[in-house]
Amino acid sequence: MHKNNFCKRCLYGTAHPLGLILDEEGICSGCRIHEEKDKLDWGARWEKLRSLVQPYRNTDGKNYDCIVPVSGAHDSYYIVHLIKKELGLNPLLVTYNKYFNTPLGIRNLANLRIQFNCDILYQNINPISVKNITRTTLRRLGSIYWPVLAGQTVFPVQTAVRYKIPLIIWGAHQGLEQVGMFSHEHEVEMTRRYRKDHDLMGHEADDLLSIFDTLKEEDIWQYRYPDDQELNAVGVRGIYLGNYVRWDPKAQHEKMVTEYGYQTASFSRTFDAYDFVDCFNYMDLHDQLKLYKHGYSKVTDHASREIRFGRLTRQEGHALVTKYEQRTLKYSEQFCDWLGIAPRSLQFMLDMHRNPDCWEQIEPDKWIFKGWSVQRAEGLSSEVRPSDLFQVNSSLEMDRAASYITIGKGWP
Ligand SMILES: [Zn+2]
Repeated sequence: MHKNNFCKRCLYGTAHPLGLILDEEGICSGCRIHEEKDKLDWGARWEKLRSLVQPYRNTDGKNYDCIVPVSGAHDSYYIVHLIKKELGLNPLLVTYNKYFNTPLGIRNLANLRIQFNCDILYQNINPISVKNITRTTLRRLGSIYWPVLAGQTVFPVQTAVRYKIPLIIWGAHQGLEQVGMFSHEHEVEMTRRYRKDHDLMGHEADDLLSIFDTLKEEDIWQYRYPDDQELNAVGVRGIYLGNYVRWDPKAQHEKMVTEYGYQTASFSRTFDAYDFVDCFNYMDLHDQLKLYKHGYSKVTDHASREIRFGRLTRQEGHALVTKYEQRTLKYSEQFCDWLGIAPRSLQFMLDMHRNPDCWEQIEPDKWIFKGWSVQRAEGLSSEVRPSDLFQVNSSLEMDRAASYITIGKGWP
């Protein structure tokens, strides 16, 4: 069994898939880098950002100043708020259609472009190819999200090349936020390598083509990253706002709710009501796969983040993880309908990806979680903090049925 040593402050262990180290005091690299949020001179860092974007401002009004990838959730509102309202840039918003759209996500995205009065490009890949890839990556990599992650990370870069808009602006860098892979002061930028290794689990579009005989060129070409020559010709670079702004998703979302009408929803598998309200699967089937493969789920990410900000104690965070981690799925039937597979085949494929370090099969259809959270539980109480930390003002389904909106650009 692989060893997983836990941080004394948050709920992450050294088995974290992004890589994490503990120092001599038993505090993880993610928690140490988080300390920078209260040490750095954010005023000076904001000024640095201001001068960084200055040369990209379009003076003749014939092109956009930058590209901003958005969705109907996550940090999209705050990113556009900073770029348009605070920096005064004229962005081209781009969004990749993930197909698992909730009515709330469609509403939030429509409201975003109206509130901020921005132009937006949608990329809709044909459903047959998306399903072919999803089927293949589910079976082989244990991921239903490969096309979404690939599309979200490549469409902005392709658009930068096509429209000759060199600057892409992202929100926070996950490697920095979760595990402290870099310091804020390193000001890391977007790379092909990080995308492949972490976002795409080591497999770029062409790798899928060469490894799996179930896919064809026509399925994957839209997910191909531009080559260096194309990128260099335009001078494409991608920067992360989290290096220049003290990033706090909870506080940011609350400001967006008040100022621009961002809507939130409750989930059965986490207490965070703000993050992934645009997708039926991210906090459901995708989250279950994370638990199967890595022995923890998104609620651990949320709890660790809140612990670092001092809004939860480690005990409270752990109790929330215990409460939510094993909740049953709500939306897997919709996924089976969409992909055209039986629920039993889905469960079979999910089981193939259970990590033997965390799961033990005791009968053909029965598994027990002997996972890492059990070790975390040692010495921790199980008091669950009242759930008023996050405000809910809508629901994923809104007034519509809980089925995907596969294409939806407007909202009445
Ligand atoms: Zn930590």
